[in-house]
Amino acid sequence: MAESTMQKIVSLAKRRGFIFQSSEIYGGLKACYDYGPLGVELKRNVKEAWWNDMVHRRADIVGLDCSIIMHPDVWKASGHLAGFADPLVDCRVCKERFRADKAPRAAPGTPVTYREGGRKDGKKLEGVVGPQGYVCPVCGSGDLSDERQFNLMFRTSLGPVDPMQEILNNVEELARLQGNERKERLAALINQSAVYLRPETAQGMFVNFLNVLNSGRVKPPFGIAQVGKSYRNEITTSNLTFRTCEFEQMEMEYFVEPGTDEEWYAYWSKFRFDWYTSLGMRPERLRLREHEKKELAHYAKACVDVEYFYPFENPEGEGEWGELEGIANRTDYDLKKHSEYSGKDLSYFETESKKRYTPYVIEPAAGADRATLAFLCDAFDEEVVDREKNDVRTVLRFHPRLAPVKVAVFPLVKKEGMPDRARAIMDDLLAEGINSFYDESGAIGRRYRRMDEVGTPWCVTVDTETLEKGTVTVRERDSMEQTRIPGEGVAEYFRNRLKSSGNRI
Ligand code: ATP
Repeated sequence: MAESTMQKIVSLAKRRGFIFQSSEIYGGLKACYDYGPLGVELKRNVKEAWWNDMVHRRADIVGLDCSIIMHPDVWKASGHLAGFADPLVDCRVCKERFRADKAPRAAPGTPVTYREGGRKDGKKLEGVVGPQGYVCPVCGSGDLSDERQFNLMFRTSLGPVDPMQEILNNVEELARLQGNERKERLAALINQSAVYLRPETAQGMFVNFLNVLNSGRVKPPFGIAQVGKSYRNEITTSNLTFRTCEFEQMEMEYFVEPGTDEEWYAYWSKFRFDWYTSLGMRPERLRLREHEKKELAHYAKACVDVEYFYPFENPEGEGEWGELEGIANRTDYDLKKHSEYSGKDLSYFETESKKRYTPYVIEPAAGADRATLAFLCDAFDEEVVDREKNDVRTVLRFHPRLAPVKVAVFPLVKKEGMPDRARAIMDDLLAEGINSFYDESGAIGRRYRRMDEVGTPWCVTVDTETLEKGTVTVRERDSMEQTRIPGEGVAEYFRNRLKSSGNRI
C-alpha cells in the first residue's frame, strides 16, 4: 500500500532529525517526543516568531515567565481541581480507553459492524449504537462503559512529605476508620503536600495581574504573554505531537475595559488567523470555527478556534480539521475568582475617568508543538520536477523565518581551494547569527535536494567562476533558480533577505 502523507512526514521527521520518539532505545514512551537538531530549531523559530510579533513588536504587551508548580489554591480558584476533567469511556470490545467528546458521533440505535475483540482478523459482528450516541473510535463498536470523569492534572508533592509513605505509616489508623471518615483522613494525608504541574500557562498571568500592573509600565488595554510548558494527563494521544502529555503553550491574556471586549475579541481572532498566513501557512488549510453556545466553557462569552486541516488518517480518508489555537472572551471570570479566593482586590482604577472595574480578558491560546507540527505538515511538498524521468523532489517550503537552516554553503568540488572559500563564507554567515550548514559530499544536485528536504531556503555554491570573477551561485529552494552575486558580502546579502522576510537577526 502506498505511504500516506502523514506516514511520509513522520518518517522524514525522524530521518532528518526533526522529531524522535522519546526514550526510543527503551521502546519509546507513549505520546512523548523529543525534538532533534532540526526540530529544535524549527520549534524555537515558531516560538520566537510568536514572541516577536506578540511582544517585541507591540507597545501594549509585556512578557512573563512563571513557575510550573503554583500554589494549589490557584487550581481551586480556577476550577481546574474540580472541573478539569475529560469524560472517559472504555470500549468493552477492544478495551481501548478514549475521550467520549472526541469519539465519532452516531444516533442511538444506528446499526454498526465491528470485529470480534477489536481484532482485524476477528469475526464480523453486528451491534447498535448505545444511548451515548457515539462509537468506539478504534473498533467501531457501540458496546461502551459508562462515562466517568478523569482529572487531567498531574499531581506531585512538594516538600519532604511522601504521601504514599504517609498512608503506609497510618495504615492501622485508616483501617479502624469507617466510611466518610476514612475517606477524609486519606484525602488529608494525600493533599497535605499535593501540588500540580500546571495544565495551562494562563493562570500565571492572572495571579500576577497586580504585580505587572504595579510594576508601572501598563494599563488596560494591555496584555501579558507567556511561553512555557504545560502538562495534561491526556487520555487519547495520537498523531505525533498533536496531543501529548507534556507540551508548550504560547498564551496571551489581554485585559480590557468591559464593553470593549467584543471589539478586542474580533481584533484578536483576525490577528491570530493572519499570523499563520503571514508565516506562509496556506489559507485554504486554515479556518476560524466559532464555538456553539453549548460548547462554551461556563465562563466564556465567546470562543473561536483557529483550525488547520492536518493530513491525519481517519476512517473517511486523509485529512481532518484540528484545533491549532483558541481565542476566548473569558470575561472577568478569572480575575474575580482569584479575588474571591485570595482576598486581594484585582480590579483596576482608571485615574483619568475615576472608574473602577475588573477587566475582561481576551485570550489567544496557541500550542507551540501543535503549531510546529502544522507548519511542518503545511511545508511538506512533493514536486514533480520532470515527469518523464520520474523526477520528484521532496521539499519543505518553510517560510524563511521558520526554516531551521537558513543557508547551505557548498564548494562545487573538493579542490582548487573551493572548500576553504566556502568555509570562510559559512563562518561569515555564522558570525552574523545566520544558521548555516556546510556540505561538500556528493554531487551538487544531490546536495541541493538534501537541503530542499529540510527546507533550507537558499544554497550558496563556490565554483570555478568564484575563482575567476569572485562571484558565487545562489540557488533558490522554491523556484530552483540560480543567480550570481558577489562573493564578498554574502552574509550581508542574506541578512537583508532575511530582514525583508520579517526575520530578526
Ligand atoms: P483540545 O480541545 O484539542 O484538547 P483545548 O481546547 O483543551 O485543546 P486549550 O486549553 O485551549 O486547548 O489550549 C490552548 C492550545 O494549547 C491548544 O489550541 C493547543 O494548540 C495546545 N494544546 C492543548 N492541549 C494540548 C496537548 N495535549 N498537546 C499539545 N498541544 C496542546
